[in-house]
Amino acid sequence: MARYTGPVCRLCRREGMKLFLKGDRCMSSKCAIERRNTRPGQHGQARARKMSGAGMQLREKQKVRRTYGLLERQFSNFYRKASHQPGKTGENLLQMLEMRLDNIVYRLGFGDSRAQARQLVTHGHFQVNGRKLDIPSAILKPGDEVAVRERSRNLEYFKTRALMLNQKGVPPWMRLDPTALSGRVLAIPTRQDMELPFDEALVVEYYSRR
Ligand code: SF4
Repeated sequence: MARYTGPVCRLCRREGMKLFLKGDRCMSSKCAIERRNTRPGQHGQARARKMSGAGMQLREKQKVRRTYGLLERQFSNFYRKASHQPGKTGENLLQMLEMRLDNIVYRLGFGDSRAQARQLVTHGHFQVNGRKLDIPSAILKPGDEVAVRERSRNLEYFKTRALMLNQKGVPPWMRLDPTALSGRVLAIPTRQDMELPFDEALVVEYYSRR
């Protein structure tokens, strides 16, 4: 599946906020938003014009999409599925994005960023409920167990990770077993659980106009 391969800090600068796409660097003073929070490009330093309603909707959609590292087609497919489910479409969308395998691997702390977690998944290092699963977009459900596969446990990366996992907390809707290099999804996260700085209503408005 195609993906964006350009400089990711540029995406944060475009949105004017941290999207946390680079792991530990995002928490350091090297973060581009900390050093130079201007829009990228020749006119980046120019005074920002007042944004229209449609502009705000577009920007909010881009923030969510870029945070999860999806291309437009993938993201709009998620939106379409979310809109066919009962309940609030915006919340459904965020819940589906959070339940993706690559996001779960990231949230459990096996990768520093969603991009890294996705790569670990596609390289076949994980199993779900005892079976290898290398599809980052697979949607998990409550009760599913994600674990590093037996043959990957001896890799230096996972040995080091095992030591770090103890220090990393996980969201309340999942449980981590650092010794077993595994975790379990306990529930679908509520909107409060997700603690995401997005206004998903604007994303819904963006797609409703189309
Ligand atoms: Fe965004 Fe992280 Fe780069 Fe900062 S370091 S601009 S948060 S990707």
